[in-house]
Amino acid sequence: MSFQFERIALIGIGLIGSSLSHVIRKNRIARTITGYARSESTRRKAVELKLVDAVSGTAADAVKDADLVILCSPVGTYGVLAQEISATLKPGAILTDVGSVKAAVVRDVQPHVPQGVHFIPGHPIAGTEQSGPESGFAELFINRWCILTPLPEADATAVEKLAGFWKACGSNVELMTPEHHDLVLAITSHLPHLIAYNIVSTAADLEEVTDSEVIKYSAGGFRDFTRIAASDPTMWRDVFLNNKDAVLEMLGRFSEDLSALQRAIRWGDGDMLFNIFSRSREIRRNIIAAGQDTAAPDFGRSTPKPQ
Ligand code: NAP
Repeated sequence: MSFQFERIALIGIGLIGSSLSHVIRKNRIARTITGYARSESTRRKAVELKLVDAVSGTAADAVKDADLVILCSPVGTYGVLAQEISATLKPGAILTDVGSVKAAVVRDVQPHVPQGVHFIPGHPIAGTEQSGPESGFAELFINRWCILTPLPEADATAVEKLAGFWKACGSNVELMTPEHHDLVLAITSHLPHLIAYNIVSTAADLEEVTDSEVIKYSAGGFRDFTRIAASDPTMWRDVFLNNKDAVLEMLGRFSEDLSALQRAIRWGDGDMLFNIFSRSREIRRNIIAAGQDTAAPDFGRSTPKPQ
């Protein structure tokens, strides 16, 4: 069986980069994987875990001769990295990324892409709250969507080839504009993270309820927010700084709806609360029907034994 790519370069080897390495190896998608990460310790770990065949001390070195280059670091780093690798990208190579925002990535990367290199931004809608080179696993992308946001002038064959890569990783692929991606993800991912960060921070500041009570009684709902709020601070700082408009738009709508709920509680409008809660339940059922979560009670957690 021939490989889809001879050489893939991973720039950034954390949760997403290491998961890609595992699935590339497992499904024999590329003959060779090269890599680069910011710190010496991550580079050493990547070699130790055999995530890469060769690690480089610079991004420019890591992308040499690669037919697919994937930026897998926080989105705030992409502009500088694109500038650094610009001169050593192989003609005909595909340059992509996994960043959680897309319009800002096009803005930061596109100016540095040399003639003859195919830049096709991407975002796998798959992740966990873990980070680092040891957190990856090959199954992360199975049955998850990967959104590609090719520019209007993108080469159709290169887009097809990149879509084939994600399909080989187990994903379903959808194409859309970077702006539409940012709007969709603002409500499905970015706002939920902001709400989770906020509720955890509110609980931490409470004076009447102690920290130990918050932890002890967290199964009431709070702990599900803490999982999301445990996500990487650097990654999420960069997401909010780089998807400002769409997040502020969704936050405005969210605040209006929250005020309506507040009003319904104040005035005892049980019908309104019931109708909104019923509609939400339906959305949850649709997510399960679409295979994007498990229907097992308590999100598939096994019940811990009483201590
Ligand atoms: P991560 O586990 O924290 O790993 C980030 C990696 O980027 C590390 O290897 C880090 O190296 C490296 N890095 C940081 N700054 C760098 C720089 N200036 N130059 C080169 N490498 C640098 O992060 P992740 O969760 O894999 O996220 C990576 C990207 O995937 C982000 O753009 C994020 O938006 C996107 N994404 C994340 C998820 C998710 O759920 N986590 C889902 C979809 C997409 P060191 O270890 O040496 O610092």
